[in-house]
Amino acid sequence: MTAGPEAVEDPPIPAGSSVDAAAGALPSATLGGEQRRSLEQITLLLFITVPFVALVAAVPLAWGWGVSWLDLGLMTAMYYVGCHGITIGFHRYFTHGSFKAKRPLRIALAIMGSLAVEGPLVRWVADHRKHHKFSDAEGDPHSPWRFGETVPALMKGLWWAHIGWMFDEEQTPQHKYAPDLIKDDAIRTISRQFVVWTAVSLLIPPLVGGLVTWSWQGALTAFFWGSLVRVALLHHVTWSINSICHAVGKRPFKSRDRSGNVWWLAVLSCGESWHNLHHADPTSARHGVMKGQLDSSARLIRWFELAGWAYDVRWPNAARIDARRNETAGGGTSPR
Ligand SMILES: [Zn+2]
Ligand SMILES: [Zn+2]
Repeated sequence: MTAGPEAVEDPPIPAGSSVDAAAGALPSATLGGEQRRSLEQITLLLFITVPFVALVAAVPLAWGWGVSWLDLGLMTAMYYVGCHGITIGFHRYFTHGSFKAKRPLRIALAIMGSLAVEGPLVRWVADHRKHHKFSDAEGDPHSPWRFGETVPALMKGLWWAHIGWMFDEEQTPQHKYAPDLIKDDAIRTISRQFVVWTAVSLLIPPLVGGLVTWSWQGALTAFFWGSLVRVALLHHVTWSINSICHAVGKRPFKSRDRSGNVWWLAVLSCGESWHNLHHADPTSARHGVMKGQLDSSARLIRWFELAGWAYDVRWPNAARIDARRNETAGGGTSPR
């Protein structure tokens, strides 16, 4: 079931766009239908699991070749540095302004996010602001509903939302969507140095691994796990927010689009998979607002606030959360 037009605080949609048709004002053609339901479940599941199975299959192969606790430690540390750089920095801070940061933290978040190898900062922010402006409607750079609601269209759309959109010739105009960042010399410079930060990100693990073990073998396995596997995993988790979290998941909050809360991605995505709440309240510094919803990014922002590095944090309060709840009975769940 899709959200109604009563969504709150979303950017206005320009006249003439087909928001009604794409965002779900039309009745669902297939997803609600009992007949198609099981087929959709199976195909969705395949899309979600097959790449992961491939990744998992690669692990035992590489395991015999060599992995150490150091490699796993480097992988985990680098993963969460980049992940929080994206979620706290690129997303909650630079895109949505959910808190203000002292200058050193602003610079550090820009660099940490760049280490995730997800493209230059300003491009990331411009794409994401456009995503919120048109979420799941025409103009959204990466909606899984782009090609329609039939099973083949959704499969194509999930691929598009996950990876394909990045190869689209049409680029989001950065001057239109991120003028505030372009005006900041240091931020513009870090964004332009994307290739440099990519090199730094890929070279830290082999450097540490090589020096600690004092061997080429140690450098090589650290590169495989700490650089390659780590970047691939973080990429897929980030892209899953665009694909999986706009196709499945619970929808307890009002939003104009099809964003869902997907609990099993919460830890790996540093709290970003509470994506339904995020679209219902985009500037909130916390996405996992309900009891037991892990959100490591929100926890770190709180620590930054306590340290005096972050201020004017937009924490959600109970009234604000309640105002965004879906009242319709049964309207809070996905087609799954
Ligand atoms: Zn989204
Ligand atoms: Zn967002």
